[in-house]
Amino acid sequence: MSTASTIAFIGLGHMGGPMAASLVRAGHRVLGYDLVPRACAAAAADGVEVAPSASSAAAGAEVVITMLPEGRHVLALYRDEGLLSAASPGTLFIDCSTIDVATARVAHAAAVEAGHRALDAPVSGGVVGAQGATLTFMAGGSAPDFARARPFLAAMGRKAVHCGDAGAGQAAKICNNMILGISMIAVSEAFVLAESLGLAHQALYDVASTASGQCWALTVNCPVPGPVPDSPANRDYRPGFAAPLMAKDLGLAADAIREGEVAAELGLRAAELYARYAEGAGAGQDFSGIVGTIRAGTPRGTDGVPR
Ligand code: NAD
Repeated sequence: MSTASTIAFIGLGHMGGPMAASLVRAGHRVLGYDLVPRACAAAAADGVEVAPSASSAAAGAEVVITMLPEGRHVLALYRDEGLLSAASPGTLFIDCSTIDVATARVAHAAAVEAGHRALDAPVSGGVVGAQGATLTFMAGGSAPDFARARPFLAAMGRKAVHCGDAGAGQAAKICNNMILGISMIAVSEAFVLAESLGLAHQALYDVASTASGQCWALTVNCPVPGPVPDSPANRDYRPGFAAPLMAKDLGLAADAIREGEVAAELGLRAAELYARYAEGAGAGQDFSGIVGTIRAGTPRGTDGVPR
């Protein structure tokens, strides 16, 4: 274990709350802050010392971790709400939120200009990973800053990958989730096509799970009930990885695709499909529930089999 440090943790929501608790369990002093009193109370029960403001938490810390909804929240906190100016020079700022690459680079530059060190370190693994301290971090920033952050990331997760300079962690996050979003649609379409062809789910699973169609969307998060008993499909698509979060990440990927004029047609289409699904039936569902919209869009005969 690392020696004990004082860490400010801003954003104690679904992810930040349990991540802050992991740092407390690792022996660190954690000064936490969230706009929502209920989030602060839950963190306090886990041993986080709730500060009266984000800036006052940062003022007493060697490391400042943020886990916020979007890039605009990170920039507003860093600059307008005075987080950067409140911290002692040389403080390490680690932003674990999932935000766009351009904003991550602006936040990084602002932190460095204020005399600090900075890392973007978004995560995969969801709330379960945050609670069990099994997250994967993908980090962007300098090698020394990544080395400095490592013990703290290790307290909250199982794996940390240094992906490159500022923004590289966010780039890795949206590229990975674009693969996941597209592959979940592909697996779901294959199951609905199988239904149309009279092929049993289990038969398709038995073949594809050990053939070239194998992927995480099939073998871990299988979108139809049965073949993978733990997948969200077996519990009415209760998340899991919520569809609105997938829609958010694909939206970030789509923006980057357009910005870079990348010929990633499936990424753009996946973003559209998930945006529509997340606004409707998917609002409270796991992202694998998109199989239902593919099935719903498939005309059926009287026997219920898609034609
Ligand atoms: P959340 O909405 O539960 O938590 C965000 C918290 O930030 C909220 O409690 C909110 O009150 C707080 N906040 C916003 N502005 C603030 C401010 N100025 N000062 C202090 N607190 C402020 O969201 P979450 O699910 O914890 O996700 C956080 C980030 O992690 C997002 O960027 C999300 O995309 C990413 N992420 C989430 C998951 C997941 O499964 N939930 C998985 C991977 C990544």
